[in-house]
Amino acid sequence: MRILVVEDEASLRDGIVDLLTGDGHDVAAVGDGVAGVEAGLRDPFDLVVLDLMLPRLDGMEVCRRLRAARPGTPILMLTARGSEDDKVRGLMEGADDYVTKPFSARELLARVRVLGRRAPAGDSLDEVQVDGAVIDLARMVVVRGETRTTLTPREVGIVRWLHRHQDRVVTRAELLEQVFGQRGDLQTRAVDMAIAVLRKKLELDPARPALIISVKGAGYAWRLAR
Ligand code: CA
Repeated sequence: MRILVVEDEASLRDGIVDLLTGDGHDVAAVGDGVAGVEAGLRDPFDLVVLDLMLPRLDGMEVCRRLRAARPGTPILMLTARGSEDDKVRGLMEGADDYVTKPFSARELLARVRVLGRRAPAGDSLDEVQVDGAVIDLARMVVVRGETRTTLTPREVGIVRWLHRHQDRVVTRAELLEQVFGQRGDLQTRAVDMAIAVLRKKLELDPARPALIISVKGAGYAWRLAR
């Protein structure tokens, strides 16, 4: 993959570049937010590894601008803060995943590999018609009347997985492993947060979901209750 790394801390940036290069990727690296946007808009990348706290332009704004220009490029956010607020905001701004510093080499590589797997269209399902809306999975948008809402690669992954297994309930642990590329009961809250954001994009009334149904004590189902 061609990967762009945006990290201001030189030793960490060099470490990430070495790690990803060693994993067989073609890596470009810059040290501030403005340079990150410039590099990201100039060349196409398969993945952007983006620090949250950056000089000149913060990671959230970099994420917003790159996402607007290149909606299909997965963005992995690096955050030192680790507060839930930042994580939710990061996902809302269109980051596909986040890693909290300090992280291990193994953890970073695992996330990078999962995001890289998700980027190409490996699934023939292009479009899902729902109540008054079209979920265009190839173009990663939801079109409802005049309104177009962008989906992140992870959100497309969630829709594909739920849709493909619509005859049964999908557990949080399963989504975590299959779509997020993570394991562990402690992280299943990340699934709930992602579903909450996704419902705001897909559902006519996010407070009373009709597409992604919560099945108490089990997980989620695609319109199973209908
Ligand atoms: Ca930083």
